[in-house]
Amino acid sequence: MAAAEPKTYSGKCYCGAVRFDARGLKDIWYCHCTQCRSLTGHYMAACRALRDDVRIGGDVKWIAVSENSEHGFCAACCSPLFWRNNTRDTISILPGNLDNTGGLKTKGHVYVSEKGDYYEVTDGLPQFEAFPESGI
Ligand SMILES: [Zn+2]
Ligand SMILES: [Zn+2]
Repeated sequence: MAAAEPKTYSGKCYCGAVRFDARGLKDIWYCHCTQCRSLTGHYMAACRALRDDVRIGGDVKWIAVSENSEHGFCAACCSPLFWRNNTRDTISILPGNLDNTGGLKTKGHVYVSEKGDYYEVTDGLPQFEAFPESGI
């Protein structure tokens, strides 16, 4: 029996001007770093796919947030949609914009050393002070 094809997920921003498809999304991680907290208003949930497996339509505004990384928003409604590091072959997608998240699981928390002091992380998932050496 052939291996199952990776699932393709679709999503859109709040106003619908940006739409995307992503094949083979990986599971969801939460990032509590100060940058993600500023850009999203709380902490960021993100799941990754290979850039070649993501198709984006519509007008995305990319904002440089460090030397190599950019955050992507809908140019019309400003929904936070994507994050990418230009040294990596993946792109991160914020799962709140997915039409259907069936099959995706939440895996853990990174950069909890920078989390806001107004909340606790109590879901029992693994927590890392920064980005784990072993990768995620
Ligand atoms: Zn929009
Ligand atoms: Zn972050």
